[in-house]
Amino acid sequence: MLDACLDLLLGSSCAVCARPGRVLCRACADGLPSAGRVCWPTPRPVGLALPVSAGEYDGALKALVNAHKERRQFALARPLGTVLAHVVRDLIGPEAADRPVLLVPVPSRAVVVRSRGHDPMLRTTRQAANQLRRWGLDATVVGVLQTRTVVRDQSGLHAVDRARNLAGSMQASGTRLQQTLQRRPGASLVITDDVLTTGSTAREAQRALEDGGATVAGIATVAATRKRLATTATSESLSSLPFSGSGD
Ligand SMILES: [Zn+2]
Repeated sequence: MLDACLDLLLGSSCAVCARPGRVLCRACADGLPSAGRVCWPTPRPVGLALPVSAGEYDGALKALVNAHKERRQFALARPLGTVLAHVVRDLIGPEAADRPVLLVPVPSRAVVVRSRGHDPMLRTTRQAANQLRRWGLDATVVGVLQTRTVVRDQSGLHAVDRARNLAGSMQASGTRLQQTLQRRPGASLVITDDVLTTGSTAREAQRALEDGGATVAGIATVAATRKRLATTATSESLSSLPFSGSGD
């Protein structure tokens, strides 16, 4: 009844199953992944920090990422942030749960932010930090990365071309990064992005942060493209925290 009223008022429907009502229906929300899997790209960019993702870039995750990014369904930032929070929590592991967590979103190009009218990854990462704090973790979003040159659109480029296209394309605000690291000694620094494809964007973000003196614990993404999801993922030592499954 409530969903029907919302549909009449707002004309909305579930971004995953198209059922009229909320932008994400309860059934689809309950089906979202609540754990992280290691997902090394093939080929693996040299030196890439541990990449962990909630699942394949397909189905519900793909629908949510695109509806949020392209159709500006901002209400989806919270469920996407919750998915990402699970990934971050599994990435850092229980032994780091009592240390601060710094989330660094991969920056969108300014021209992309302007054309879309919003920065989806920043919004999703903020929601992930909110969820981590609800779980009792000391999580902060640090938007210290910026794109620095005109970067071509990555779609349609192969791994080598992507890496070449991106080399030197990001920079970290050194002073802000240093201040943040000094205020949060021992913090786990995690790069966040929506989709891991070749890993070259994440690797460039990692390079920029490392050039700024940071150590990157890993890369947390909502989804990874199918080719990149290694079937050996579960053999990697990813353990859930005791409070895993507490939901939101
Ligand atoms: Zn649905």
